[in-house]
Amino acid sequence: MVNVIVIGGGFIGLTAAVRLAQAGADVQVWSPVGPERTVSAVAAAVWYPTRTDFDPRVCAWGRATYDEFTRQARAGVPGLLLRPTRNLEHAGGDEMPWWAPPDARIVAGTGPYRREIRFTAPLAEPAVYLPWLESQVTVRRRAVRRLSDALAEAPVVVNATGLAAGRLAGDDAVYPARGQIVLVRNPGLDTSVRAEASRADGMSAYVHPRTGDVVLGGTFEVGATGLEPDPATRDAIVARCTALVPELAGAPILGEKVGLRPCRRGGPRVERDGAVVHAYGHGGAGMTLSWGTADEVTRLALAGRAGRGKGD
Ligand SMILES: Cc1cc2nc3c(=O)[nH]c(=O)nc-3n(C[C@H](O)[C@H](O)[C@H](O)COP(=O)(O)OP(=O)(O)OC[C@H]3O[C@@H](n4cnc5c(N)ncnc54)[C@H](O)[C@@H]3O)c2cc1C
Repeated sequence: MVNVIVIGGGFIGLTAAVRLAQAGADVQVWSPVGPERTVSAVAAAVWYPTRTDFDPRVCAWGRATYDEFTRQARAGVPGLLLRPTRNLEHAGGDEMPWWAPPDARIVAGTGPYRREIRFTAPLAEPAVYLPWLESQVTVRRRAVRRLSDALAEAPVVVNATGLAAGRLAGDDAVYPARGQIVLVRNPGLDTSVRAEASRADGMSAYVHPRTGDVVLGGTFEVGATGLEPDPATRDAIVARCTALVPELAGAPILGEKVGLRPCRRGGPRVERDGAVVHAYGHGGAGMTLSWGTADEVTRLALAGRAGRGKGD
């Protein structure tokens, strides 16, 4: 019998499993699909607490994740980059936002923007980083119909099933927020730019250069579930991002992706309920909160285990 089964092989489940293994647990991840077919694979996967309300726990998870990604990037973990970042904001004075990382500074904005927050942001390339996470742990391609399927095989189960957690945990606070992004060839950019929603059309824009391509975004459509990219939305994303970063003009489009962010009213649920540790509802910030969440999951899952032998 394994110590802990983690159900879910996206950012949240894989990261939690790696931490649990590092803490000495005998861990198995269950996911019916490989990481390339998760919502996590669609993510721009840049450290930033998108649409996350301030909460001391979430703030601590974000900081812990920032520190861990920075350490990993410097250690050469595959698929991790550190990017200079410009956050363009319409309002605000001298006060730092609650999420600001240690090197953040405020500079005067230009054009319609009142100020910029400049900072260094970790960026994960999911096609490389998620398989690297997966390679650190034991994974079985299995789906559960209910959480108790896994409880038959382990004394502790982590529920990291993203949007599916709404049904599996009977939690009606979970809802999708559709995101569409466009990938273009990188014309030589290395700075991430994120602009607050425009006053004209209410849409935000972000440009996140990776090694070979650039992620252009994006939408945040609460309640929408369609998985087909919408051509008009694609054109609007490309136009907004090119207006923001003119070097993108004419960059060939390499692909389009759509994913349903696993959002939850009240914020992520990371708590223990009997033999189940829930870890879902990270919305637009699953990468950003992944290592802090994994630390908390590990503490909750292994609580009370001291003094017992592995496998007890
Ligand atoms: C367009 C877009 C851009 C984004 N950009 C960012 C960003 O820049 N930064 C950031 O931090 N976040 C970003 N996000 C959000 C991020 O993608 C999510 O918060 C994150 O992927 C959630 O991870 P997860 O592991 O909870 O869920 P998922 O990645 O959905 O993983 C869920 C796992 O559970 C498994 N599962 C589901 N049902 C079952 C079952 N019955 N049995 C067994 N396994 C099951 C699935 O197969 C999967 O392995 C973005 C999202 C989108 C869509």
